[in-house]
Amino acid sequence: EELTMAEKDALVKETVEAFRDHVNPGFLEYRKSVSTDYTSVEWKDGGATFTDVYGKEFIDCLGGYGIYNVGHRHPKVLAAVINQLKRQALHSQELLDPLRALLAKLVAAITPGDLQYVFFVNSGTESVEAAIKFARMYTGRRSFISTTRAFHGKSLGSLSATAKAVFRKPFLPLIPGFHHVPYGNAEAVAMMLESCAFVGEDVAAVIVEPIQGEGGVIVPPDDYLPKLRKLCDQYGALLILDEVQTGMGRTGKMFACEHCGVVPDILCLAKAFGGGVMPIGATVARKPIWEKLIENPFLHTTTFGGNPVCCAAAIANINVLLEENLPQRAAESGAYMLRRLRELAAKYPAVVLEVRGKGLMIGIEFVSNELGYEVAKGLFARGVLVAGTLINAKSIRIEPPLTISRDQQDRVIERLAATLEEVNRLA
Ligand code: PMP
Repeated sequence: EELTMAEKDALVKETVEAFRDHVNPGFLEYRKSVSTDYTSVEWKDGGATFTDVYGKEFIDCLGGYGIYNVGHRHPKVLAAVINQLKRQALHSQELLDPLRALLAKLVAAITPGDLQYVFFVNSGTESVEAAIKFARMYTGRRSFISTTRAFHGKSLGSLSATAKAVFRKPFLPLIPGFHHVPYGNAEAVAMMLESCAFVGEDVAAVIVEPIQGEGGVIVPPDDYLPKLRKLCDQYGALLILDEVQTGMGRTGKMFACEHCGVVPDILCLAKAFGGGVMPIGATVARKPIWEKLIENPFLHTTTFGGNPVCCAAAIANINVLLEENLPQRAAESGAYMLRRLRELAAKYPAVVLEVRGKGLMIGIEFVSNELGYEVAKGLFARGVLVAGTLINAKSIRIEPPLTISRDQQDRVIERLAATLEEVNRLA
């Protein structure tokens, strides 16, 4: 039965209270009234806005941490899911599922180069777990090189690749053999590969995000991935690209690695892969890796991975991304937003340190964490939802649906201008 507004209100407040001692007060304030039980269920404004339980309308620049690339509840994705629910939602993996096969074909077709075999999972961290296991299995090697500020998930394997001390410390020791080098610096990777080889510790894979998301939207130099590709080939290591956040059109190409023409050995997908409606991820690999894996296909399995409902959502999602030309729209909207944001930031040097990004994956770094919270709070009050990064607001992320209109972008800029004017007085 439908809950009453008062019941919903009480549940949101109770949840916030339960976290009171554990969450930064800035975020608590910022989240006090937001509820995910949006009242608007109909498709409107290209899915880039939503109305919360109090009837307040927001332009969504958080995008569910980058999951709503096609917008909130795109009607075609919803219809695909509802349709499939009426047939078969879940079934035994003993049965071959046509939707899973179709989705695998689509993924092979839209991913670059010879990436053509797909293992379906339920989340980003699982896609990275699979990549780590595939790399060890294929190479017979044990070690990995990851980067500082990296975020690859929080289950034990992916957490070993993640770099934030607060997330790792309580769970040490993690998987042995993970080395972290400064992000964006190919020379650092070269040195680590050389050091590992020198002590007889061969590296199975280098794992990086093409643009770091949780780390604060860090865009590496253009030649970073091409250099990593060369180094991996030179040392016989695999290149794993974690496109959980950058994939599905976010950065202005379907996959961020396409900006520089680099094809990884393994590509990790999740987040927006299920169209913002269902949770599904994928670990996409080159054929030789897959051939090694299927020598014993039961070594890595998951009951729910690639279930029919999630596959239906992912298929519809890919269709919408292509039909509506959303990667290209993200490139154009992103270039416009970046220019407007930089013009605005230049007026407030005491508040904003830097604006950076690619496509509709944009980060604004502030002079301090506190000023970042004030801006997030001010935007929230004006009906713009944004995301902090990791556990602070020193940088905030702007990752709206790729469908966001020019008019909505202008309204975001206007509201940010008013917020910065206000926050500038505190700086
Ligand atoms: N990799 C990257 C690059 C991510 O941004 C995230 C989530 N923020 C993950 C992995 C983990 O995904 P999930 O939360 O679905 O486990």
